[in-house]
Amino acid sequence: MNAQPNANLFSRLFDRLKDGAKIAIETADGAIISYSDLVAQAGRMANYLVSRGVKPGDRVAAQTEKSVAALVLYLATVRAGAVFLPLNTAYTLNELDYFIGDAEPSLVVCDPSKQAGIAALADKIGAKVDTVDSNSKGSLSDGAAKQSADFATVKRANDDLAAILYTSGTTGRSKGAMLTHDNLASNSLSLVEYWRFTNKDVLIHALPIYHTHGLFVASNVTLFARASMIFLPKLDPELIIKLMARATVLMGVPTFYTRLLASPNLTKESTRHMRLFISGSAPLLAETHREWSARTGHAVLERYGMTETNMNTSNPYDGERVPGAVGFPLPGVSVRVTDPESGKELAREEIGMIEVKGPNVFKGYWRMPEKTATEFRPDGFFITGDLGKIDAQGYTHIVGRGKDLVISGGFNVYPKEVESEIDAIPGVTESAVIGLPHADFGEGVTAVVVNSKEAKLDEAAVMKALDGRLAKFKMPKRVIFVDDLPRNTMGKVQKNVLRETYKGLYGK
Ligand code: AMP
Repeated sequence: MNAQPNANLFSRLFDRLKDGAKIAIETADGAIISYSDLVAQAGRMANYLVSRGVKPGDRVAAQTEKSVAALVLYLATVRAGAVFLPLNTAYTLNELDYFIGDAEPSLVVCDPSKQAGIAALADKIGAKVDTVDSNSKGSLSDGAAKQSADFATVKRANDDLAAILYTSGTTGRSKGAMLTHDNLASNSLSLVEYWRFTNKDVLIHALPIYHTHGLFVASNVTLFARASMIFLPKLDPELIIKLMARATVLMGVPTFYTRLLASPNLTKESTRHMRLFISGSAPLLAETHREWSARTGHAVLERYGMTETNMNTSNPYDGERVPGAVGFPLPGVSVRVTDPESGKELAREEIGMIEVKGPNVFKGYWRMPEKTATEFRPDGFFITGDLGKIDAQGYTHIVGRGKDLVISGGFNVYPKEVESEIDAIPGVTESAVIGLPHADFGEGVTAVVVNSKEAKLDEAAVMKALDGRLAKFKMPKRVIFVDDLPRNTMGKVQKNVLRETYKGLYGK
């Protein structure tokens, strides 16, 4: 009699592995890991986790540099029925204290250089600590090497947790998004089809693996497709351009594309072997999209997702990839735009709150049932916090995070609209529009602008260029010039940092 299939993501990935000799991962220093190797390493590591007392449902936290062992740790944790909890490498001990205390993992894995500090935090909740470094060396790998490669993948249901990812938490406390086995598997399988991944693909993987983009989108999609990935520790534009001669897909945040465009070696010829360039995690400037097309002949495919929902929408594989738009809902995903106050669905072209529903949407915030309840509508739609619209052709557009909306003199000002006008001024590289406390207006629209190297624009020149292009209430009250916008590792402009830096600008 056939047993029920195991919904464990690991089983769905590897139970029917046929071509084990196929390359799964290649590292920058030339190490090759086949699919059979990967499954065997995950078996050894899963046995080691069990020997360390990790039980199904337990959390395994990892603040590790990018390495093959770190990816194997993710797969092994899931295989053992435990819950993987990756942590941004930039988090300080003070921040880790909160995450570890909140998630109560039974094992914490960290870089050897951080062992002493983390051990003190782990001790408080009785968690064990192991280490692994960027070369896959440490007590974790040493322990796993002594174990058998055979491991019976722990049975899980669709709805069981596979991972908890803490949101970046730019306002208030960071929340743990609980992702199930089916959230991850269904979304990756959908993307494999939508983006036409096959076992002929070679992905350039230069994203961090503590975030949904590099961990789930890049790695799971590659593994489900039996494609290969070239694992790079970080963004290295010249190396990436060199690798394009034998790769087929790049997934990046917008910064990847601007940094690559800065190299004269990015040409039609150097990208000839590539079939797909994907961007997400932050808005890709329409200008970057156009420049990329002109230089390489490839239209970047932009998609939209978030930690809580995996991927929601994508520009089409065939058909027009519209600059500045994030495309159509993925199969099985419903997207709607609503009035933020009443929750009533809005018509096409009207700006409101983006809400999504589907098998991709997370189960809720870890140990925050009240917070979870307020983020879902009664009919199951998740309120993303992103403001946007669906245009007449059905493409979704994002105009910014709800919390970045500027309300000046009682009027809503969508930063993206003002930024697009500023970015169109010759000499402007990019801009960020924020609201700052203002005695008369509540918030004053404020533009933070990066000039191109040659440009010598000043505040008056920007104001003059905008005159007549924007309604008066949308006009910036002040323009500030900076060399660079503050960004996090995923390329997102940190508007909270700008708001904090300039909060006294209007003397309030
Ligand atoms: P994270 O949870 O770190 O992946 O951040 C998710 C947020 O990033 C979303 O809620 C959006 O605000 C933003 N985001 C992701 N993809 C895009 C995109 N293609 N364009 C604009 N914003 C995006």
